[in-house]
Amino acid sequence: LKKKELLLHICCAPCLIVPHLYLSDNFNIRGLWYNPNIHPLSEYLKRLEALEKFSLDKNIEVIFQSEYALFEFFQKCVFREEQRCLFCYEQRLLKTARIAKNGNFDCFSTTLLQSHQQDRPLIIQLGMDIAKKFDIEFFCYDLRSNWSEGVAISKETGLYRQQYCGCIYSEYDRYKQDLMKKKELLRNGSNKI
Ligand code: SF4
Repeated sequence: LKKKELLLHICCAPCLIVPHLYLSDNFNIRGLWYNPNIHPLSEYLKRLEALEKFSLDKNIEVIFQSEYALFEFFQKCVFREEQRCLFCYEQRLLKTARIAKNGNFDCFSTTLLQSHQQDRPLIIQLGMDIAKKFDIEFFCYDLRSNWSEGVAISKETGLYRQQYCGCIYSEYDRYKQDLMKKKELLRNGSNKI
């Protein structure tokens, strides 16, 4: 049976491990790096370099779209912060579908579906809507039960593992507890963290 050509948007190297492991039997996978709002830029570069290293090690072909559109993201999100994930998913899926269609792929998908932290129903809804618009299949998979396998492999191989989703809002959510603790210590007259 001929394998389908899949353009797989990659949010980060650790989330690629399991889909690559389990989908490669049925698909020729080409990756797409396109994550233009990761903050700060140094974090963006760390994630990009992790994928460069991983894809080279595993011989995975990846299209690197290295544009950085942080300011456009802010313009969309200001005063509509609660919709930021919708904008963020949509931007990445639109780009993936467009490249997949122009490149004659059979279907497109995203490693965002591998994460327990993402809004899966929203990603699927957007994927389906965008697929209709571009007349190309959105491939939906669920390999989240194999999540720990991906974690183990990423640790074994020393792959960079990020601590937050990507944008400045998620960075704040991740570290705000540390800020609260520090404020509490300072209030109590201690300068130890
Ligand atoms: S939390 Fe993650 S998915 Fe949501 S806007 Fe930020 S980077 Fe995008």
